[in-house]
Amino acid sequence: MPSIRVLSVASEAVPLVKTGGLADVAGALPSALAPHGVEMTTLLPGYPAVMAAIGKARRIHGYGALLGEPARLLTAKLDGHPLIVIDAPGLYRREGGPYTDAAGREWPDNWRRFAALGRVAADIAGGAVKGRRFDLVHAHDWQAGMAPAYLRYAPLPDAPRVPSVITVHNMAFVGGFDRAILPALGLPDYAWAIDGVEFYGRVSFLKAGLVSADAITTVSPTYAEEIRRPEFGMGFEGLIEGRADRVHGILNGIDAAQWSPAADPALAASYGHRHLNRRTANKRALEAEFGLDQDDGPLFIAITRLTWQKGMDVLAGLTDHIAGIGGRLALLGSGDAWMESAFHAAAARHPGRIGVRIGYDEALSHRMQGGGDAILIPSRFEPCGLTQLYGLAYGCVPVVARTGGLADTVIDANPAAVQAGVATGVQFDGVTHETLASAISRAASLYRQPEVWRIIQKNGMACDFSWGASGKAYAALYARLIEETR
Ligand code: ADP
Repeated sequence: MPSIRVLSVASEAVPLVKTGGLADVAGALPSALAPHGVEMTTLLPGYPAVMAAIGKARRIHGYGALLGEPARLLTAKLDGHPLIVIDAPGLYRREGGPYTDAAGREWPDNWRRFAALGRVAADIAGGAVKGRRFDLVHAHDWQAGMAPAYLRYAPLPDAPRVPSVITVHNMAFVGGFDRAILPALGLPDYAWAIDGVEFYGRVSFLKAGLVSADAITTVSPTYAEEIRRPEFGMGFEGLIEGRADRVHGILNGIDAAQWSPAADPALAASYGHRHLNRRTANKRALEAEFGLDQDDGPLFIAITRLTWQKGMDVLAGLTDHIAGIGGRLALLGSGDAWMESAFHAAAARHPGRIGVRIGYDEALSHRMQGGGDAILIPSRFEPCGLTQLYGLAYGCVPVVARTGGLADTVIDANPAAVQAGVATGVQFDGVTHETLASAISRAASLYRQPEVWRIIQKNGMACDFSWGASGKAYAALYARLIEETR
């Protein structure tokens, strides 16, 4: 069977650059799809970290002016899979994050930086680079939303028709910009339309992708349904409803090479489901690392962006509750300044009970999953969520709001599920002070029934959230779209 050649267009991918779940997914897809006859090439912007990682790379194409900036395309490998990097110093070579400066302010030229990503994707798919042919373009989030739009509205002359998929990892990030950028995008006038790139008087790169792609996927079946409703659709609910037959929910998997408690170099002690008592060494190490009291009460963890979406404002109001029921909390995250201060204040109020680390620390996140008893994920919406999947794999029981991918991946430990021996975590409805407080109390009381807790941990560890099924689903979707385009 000849393989399907897919160009995956992303603004971040592990191990080169990561700000969230998108990077985990973009980094894992090439390996997830290879067993299904898909050869995936990843296209990434040449941020300093990416340029440093690829070292000396071969030039395969040049631009005098890509969205006004000189650029070259370089080819390299990412974990053994093909990678194309856009080396455009004027767009990407700067210190700071992929989307913001060091102070957290959005780069003012993000529209140009990510329009360039889309333009390059459409050019490559259109045959601009000799010897590189693609059957399909897979774009991720608003940053890659212009790829399907350029394929639809402004393909290279004589380009073959190449179908595209856009995956929405988070509908809340619409990539909205002032209408004044329109002429510089190089789209025909008719693209400025209600069924084009226009979104409430502005240009939205996410909308550009959603209206242009041949299929829309999102990262869980429940979120795929939720975004048809105003509470979750962020203004796109009508569009999603109108294209419902083109919308698919495909769960993210986890990369077992990165996330396996039996072989995780970050852990003090590795373990499998038969040796859960070995987790105690990790728990002790974690307590020491966060300056927490050592005891056998429940140790809750949170690893998250500190934002309203993640319900961290609500958790910030529950630190007294956690300490009051004999629990402890170790929190790793960064985000809204007032939440960071609120958690710092809680740690000062409850020494030994609440430990806080503000920042981003990949290795610490592994140690937390390997030593914590339960991970708190009170998201108001959650397209898929990865931290609950890591929690399940590590026997760190997820306590989650019943929404999006959290609803799809955790089985609540209600009495019937406990009795049937199928529970994997705790779920609650609606994110409020009361609902989260009672979920935390319920988790603590399950924890205090060691036989029940152990079964919940083991059930979670037995779940298969590897990429197997999802890789197959993406491959089948690609094949269908390619067939339909012929
Ligand atoms: P989102 O992409 O919305 O932030 P996900 O749960 O899909 O949420 O993915 C978050 C990813 O980022 C996970 O891999 C999680 O472990 C990681 N992560 C989030 N915050 C931190 C942090 N402060 N330090 C280390 N890893 C983090």
